[in-house]
Amino acid sequence: MTIGDSIATKTIGARLWLYSNYHCNLACSYCLTSSSRDVPKRELAADIMLALVDEAATLGFRSVGITGGEPFVRADMPDIVAAVARRLPVVVLTNGTMFTPRFVARLAPLATLPAALQVSLDSADPAANDALRGRGTYARVIAGIRTLRAAAIKVRIGSTVDDGAGAALEPLCELHRSLGILDADHVVRPVVRRGRAADHALGIAAQLEDLPAELTLTVDGAFWSPASPTVRNGRLDIGELLTRTIAPLRIPAEAMLRYASSGGMPQGTGLVA
Ligand code: SF4
Repeated sequence: MTIGDSIATKTIGARLWLYSNYHCNLACSYCLTSSSRDVPKRELAADIMLALVDEAATLGFRSVGITGGEPFVRADMPDIVAAVARRLPVVVLTNGTMFTPRFVARLAPLATLPAALQVSLDSADPAANDALRGRGTYARVIAGIRTLRAAAIKVRIGSTVDDGAGAALEPLCELHRSLGILDADHVVRPVVRRGRAADHALGIAAQLEDLPAELTLTVDGAFWSPASPTVRNGRLDIGELLTRTIAPLRIPAEAMLRYASSGGMPQGTGLVA
C-alpha cells in the first residue's frame, strides 16, 4: 500500500503535523509540552519545514497543521505559514495573544490563502480562562480575534476543557458566534493528562487508541500523533516515537503506515530507527 492509498483509506491521517518550536510566551497549567519562555526552543528550521511540506504534497497528504509551543513567537512564522499555505491547506494552533494590528499586518497574505488560525479560548468567563492560561490572556485573545477577522483571516476557536467543564461550553459558543465564528469552526478537545497537565493532575489519561493516527514531526523525530511528543519536567516523552528520522518524509510516513497497518505501535516501546 502506498502512503497515498493509506491516506485515502484513512489508515493514516491526511494531515501532517509540524511542531515548529516548543517555547511559548505563556505557561498554561495543562500544557502538554510544558512550554514557557524558558524551555529549550527545539525549532524546526524553515527550510526543513517547507521541504517536508513539498514532499507531503507529493506523497498524498492533504493538509498541514503547525503547532508547538506557540508558533508565532518565531519571527519567521508569518512567512512560513504563507509559504506552507501556497503548497497545502494549513491550520496553525496559536494562543492568540500576539495579534496586535502591527503583527496582523504581516499575516495579510493569509487572507487569500487556504490558511486558518485556530485560537485557544477555554471559557467565556475571563477569570476562568485566565486561571489556566495566565492573567490578561482573555482580553488579548478577544482583541486579537477581532483584529484577525477585520483583516479577513480565517479564525477557528480551539477550546481545551477539563472533564466536568461541559456546562461552561454554551456561553463559549455564544461568544464565538458573537465574534462571527461558526459552530463548525469551534473545536473542543479534552485536557490530556500529559506534560504539565500531569503535574497538576488535570485531564484524562489517553491511550494510543484514543489518539489520532496523524504523523507528527518534531526536531527530535517523528511521532504517532500531535498529542505524542509531550514534555514533562524537561524530558521529551518518546513512548510514541516512530523514528528519529524526519527527512525525507517517506521514511517516517512508511514507519507510521507499518504500525497503523498492524493495529498500532506497541505502546510505550518508542521504536527508534
Ligand atoms: S498550552 Fe499552548 S499557549 Fe499554553 S503554554 Fe502550552 S503551548 Fe503555550
